[in-house]
Amino acid sequence: MSSEKADPQTPFWRRKAMSEMTRAEWESLCDGCGRCCLNKLIDEDTNATVFTDVSCKLLDCQTCRCSDYTHRQAKVKDCVRLTPRNVRRLKWLPPTCAYRLVAEVKDLACGIRSFPATRKRSTPPASQCGDASRQAKPTCLM
Ligand code: SF4
Ligand code: SF4
Repeated sequence: MSSEKADPQTPFWRRKAMSEMTRAEWESLCDGCGRCCLNKLIDEDTNATVFTDVSCKLLDCQTCRCSDYTHRQAKVKDCVRLTPRNVRRLKWLPPTCAYRLVAEVKDLACGIRSFPATRKRSTPPASQCGDASRQAKPTCLM
């Protein structure tokens, strides 16, 4: 084990494999940017993912949170639950997504994640990030 992994001061996302994280740790990785809840298109020529500014019908555009997270998959059939197993192959996750970054062994985009894993957030901390691209408000479908 590297000294960084053995150091209890090292954030859990650097110390632990994704499969070793507690549920609270796993959920806390999400910074609530909401970008995965935007409708996406695939460019037929390049196979690139193009993000639109139109959101899933369940996205609350004020909080950037799913308005029915518990029942989301019953209400939106193509909503994908992220897991340590599938997160590596979901190419449409935005490059700033914490799950994608951790899976790619990169540091988190803001580098200021110091909140405890169990902390509940009422507003998306993306607004504290300083990265303007993560603060764009999506357009909600009615
Ligand atoms: S893109 Fe990633 S960090 Fe942003 S809301 Fe979706 S899962 Fe959370
Ligand atoms: S159902 Fe909720 S979590 Fe799933 S894509 Fe829609 S807003 Fe996002």
